Amino acid sequence: AALIIISLSCIVTLTVHAYFNWRHSLLNDIQRGIERKEFIAYYQPIVDANTNHWHGAELLVRWNHPKSGIITPAEFIPAAEQSGQINQITLQLLERAAYEKSTINELAPNSYISVNVTASMITNTDYVESLIGLIKQYPVLQNNVVLEFTERETFATAELGLLLSGMERLREVGVRWALDDFGTGYAGLSTLQTLSFDILKIDRTFVASSVTDAITHSILGNIAEMGLELNCTLVAEGVETAEEAEHVAQLGIQRCQGFYYAQPMPYTDYFAALKKRIKT
Ligand code: C2E
Ligand code: CA
Ligand code: CA
Ligand code: CA
Repeated sequence: AALIIISLSCIVTLTVHAYFNWRHSLLNDIQRGIERKEFIAYYQPIVDANTNHWHGAELLVRWNHPKSGIITPAEFIPAAEQSGQINQITLQLLERAAYEKSTINELAPNSYISVNVTASMITNTDYVESLIGLIKQYPVLQNNVVLEFTERETFATAELGLLLSGMERLREVGVRWALDDFGTGYAGLSTLQTLSFDILKIDRTFVASSVTDAITHSILGNIAEMGLELNCTLVAEGVETAEEAEHVAQLGIQRCQGFYYAQPMPYTDYFAALKKRIKT
């Protein structure tokens, strides 16, 4: 028995060791990726639920890795958020987006880009100032940027004041605010009223099964009603079928995002698709 316990504890030790090694090399690799500007944005259109007009696009990060090819966020965002490396990555995405937006503006001057940030970026006053500096440096970003974050990490009352003042500072350079994954977090009505989001993005779990499942159906209806009550523009995430699109529009949700309309795509593809839509 003692032998088994000893060898089990060896396995655990080795596994923990391997995990830390793996994590350490992941963080080093991310750092190298930042230095070589390997993080790029894929664009996914945000579409009018009634007219199919493309109002803007969400920028979804991809790691264009020299050995592994395109890597999706699930594989590095948790580590990059924990280490804080996401802060630099986000600034790089925005700076590149400024160049991309200037060509998009020739086709669709009123379209916006929606960028994912973390709540801890917005409670960090220095980081807020670096975002403002970047937006001021590229006038094409002013009044054209939506920042979205989820309520999964903060909203502790102590942080709420900082969050609110960070949001207000960024509003001064024309940023609008979206609450991501709406319906999955913990924010009460009073928090939502305090932060006054411009846009609520309804999490795809409520959209996906709402057509077939009566309970989800009524939850989605209630979420939509509450969002409209708060005077927000609503975006349904993860719309995958015509049926879901129709259903969402019936509930008064104004905008949709999802594979039914388009997959996230590299900037050049997004630009080409936008051009084609405007021509026809
Ligand atoms: P999210 O912000 O909720 O983004 C939406 C995710 O849903 C994207 O996954 C998108 O590709 C996917 N999606 C879009 N339409 C559909 C659909 O019809 N069906 C299904 N099943 N999925 C759909 P992606 O690109 O893998 O991103 C995953 C998450 O990673 C994002 O969730 C966001 O939380 C995070 N993320 C992405 N880019 C960034 C970034 O630049 N910074 C930070 N901090 N997080 C990011
Ligand atoms: Ca998002
Ligand atoms: Ca989301
Ligand atoms: Ca999500």
